[in-house]
Amino acid sequence: MPDETQEQPTRPQPDPERKTLDDRARMTELERIRHSCAHVMATAILRLWPEAQFASGPPVENGFYYDVELSHRISPEDFPRIEEEMKKEIKANHVFEKKIVTREQAMQDARRGRLGALSERPAPSKFKIGNLEDIPQGEPISYYQNGDFIDLCAGPHVMRTGNLGAFKLTHVASAYYKGDERNPQLQRIYGTAFKNKTELEAHFHMLEEAKRRDHRKIGAEMGLFVIDTEYVWSGLPLWLPKGAAIVEELEKLAKETEFAAGYVRVKTPHIAKEKLYLTSGHLPVLYKESMFPPMELAEDVESSKREPSNRENSGTESTIPRFSDSTKYYLKAMNCPHHHRIFAAQPRSYRELPLRLAEYGTNYRYEQSGELFGLMRVRSLNMNDAHIYCQPEKFAEEFNAVNEMYLKYFKTFGIEKYVMRFSTHDPARLTGDNAKFVNEPELWKQTEDMVRDTLKNSGINYVEVPNEAAFYGPKIDVQVWSVIGREFTLATNQVDFAVPKRFGLVYKDRDNTEKTPLCIHRAPLGTHERFIGFLIEHYAGNFPLWLAPEQVRVLTIGDDAALVDYAKSIVQELRSNMVRAEGDYGTDKINGKIQHAEHAKVHTMLVIGPRDREAGAVSVRLHGKGNVGAKPKAEVVADILQAIKERRA
Ligand SMILES: [Zn+2]
Ligand SMILES: [Zn+2]
Repeated sequence: MPDETQEQPTRPQPDPERKTLDDRARMTELERIRHSCAHVMATAILRLWPEAQFASGPPVENGFYYDVELSHRISPEDFPRIEEEMKKEIKANHVFEKKIVTREQAMQDARRGRLGALSERPAPSKFKIGNLEDIPQGEPISYYQNGDFIDLCAGPHVMRTGNLGAFKLTHVASAYYKGDERNPQLQRIYGTAFKNKTELEAHFHMLEEAKRRDHRKIGAEMGLFVIDTEYVWSGLPLWLPKGAAIVEELEKLAKETEFAAGYVRVKTPHIAKEKLYLTSGHLPVLYKESMFPPMELAEDVESSKREPSNRENSGTESTIPRFSDSTKYYLKAMNCPHHHRIFAAQPRSYRELPLRLAEYGTNYRYEQSGELFGLMRVRSLNMNDAHIYCQPEKFAEEFNAVNEMYLKYFKTFGIEKYVMRFSTHDPARLTGDNAKFVNEPELWKQTEDMVRDTLKNSGINYVEVPNEAAFYGPKIDVQVWSVIGREFTLATNQVDFAVPKRFGLVYKDRDNTEKTPLCIHRAPLGTHERFIGFLIEHYAGNFPLWLAPEQVRVLTIGDDAALVDYAKSIVQELRSNMVRAEGDYGTDKINGKIQHAEHAKVHTMLVIGPRDREAGAVSVRLHGKGNVGAKPKAEVVADILQAIKERRA
């Protein structure tokens, strides 16, 4: 897809595409454990309900499932029984035995009900027959057998049922066979498995903690954002002042960082003509589904005639409309096409390159309402976007600098675990009916080599994923883990060697010839929506001082006039230094005031009594940490300013 940065996270597919043998070979140890666990679960279910008909049982993110047709509705109340049977199978320590069979043999066994079963049965293994038909001619057909249970399966598995670590069944959903609603509806039984009990428990603890840190819950409690479905729309968050404060801090961080790295800032409007997206290739087809429907407006002939340039060109006073068609306008779903036009707006020389155009651009993407989720999946996205136009020979340097920027941000936010997923193209899909990638084999090779070399040389933590590149170039998805160990995809970088050509972008090179630049799309801080959603969970709403919506609150012990004046002067001093400081000068008891401030997650509380005033001091209290003692006012103010400036954790 010519989607640039910030693809929305992909949900587990209702029925994942059939795994290729390559996919299977890449299955991790944990995935093997989980998939093996699905076989063991099927074994257990068959002991309880021998008539059960099984369909598919792949590993998925965080666990596994197996689809089953059964007249008994399996509910969580059945889980203990099923788990008991599973434990017996694990204790028996059966080997997962692989057997290659002919298609005829497999079909015969399926007709006898022997596949996905403990023994031959009166009814055929109907879903296995369907699965068998999906196996391409020439691909080997294999069984995996543990004890009496035989399944049609390409594997891979662990060696023995006894190798399965700790597992737990989690929930039941429903799904159509092969994801097609014309097919029978099946029960999808989900579970999860880990190498050992400690890891299993850590996983459930993490889920509990994630619930406690849910960004929607904390966002509402702290008054960061609202989603006003009645008057605005779902998927279009409104940032409240406290949320907007975080937005502003992130933009400030981005602007400072990018400025230092030689970026220049641009501003682009939120709509454009259809022509822009036809040129970029997002329209007519590729990205249409993700864009809002167009606005159709009749061209304003009168006003365009009044514009001097048009009057000169028309050379006639005719009142016949010069444009008979109406023009379509689209809300922008990505910033790159606008930036490409900015590149094209002036003649460019190699001397100006790399040209790094940055913008916190707002994009609109049409998401089904069922897909929307808090700040994580939205319809308006404020993106930390930039496009770097560079000469191919400068690519490594530029790309490296982008990676360095990521690492710097990770440090600022205390992100300790990350991985860059480097997606490459599939040479078999450059042409033909299932072509998925621009047919530029040389450019693919060059850019992929460049990206790979840069990643290798920089010592960055990355994995290579074949066949998932964007249509116009290799891409890198940046995954990070929050402090509680939950994974987020924050941003996508892409190398684009195709779209600049479509826009006819050129620069005059040293040898006076015109050349097409490479374009790097990058958005290290992703979108405000996704990134702040992540940060809320990461910090559980307890933001570091520089990011805290309310950084300082000055609390008076009592409401004595001189004391209040002293407190107000401190608030004023802080605010004149751009510190988000508030005062609580009322008659409430100090403990009540502290409680309020703690509840609002105010980072630093300055408690002031008459003695503090006389000494020119303040008593400092930090959110969640309690009293850290009285200090001279000047020292405290200086320290606050310094901590904010350093973006101290
Ligand atoms: Zn299997
Ligand atoms: Zn872009």
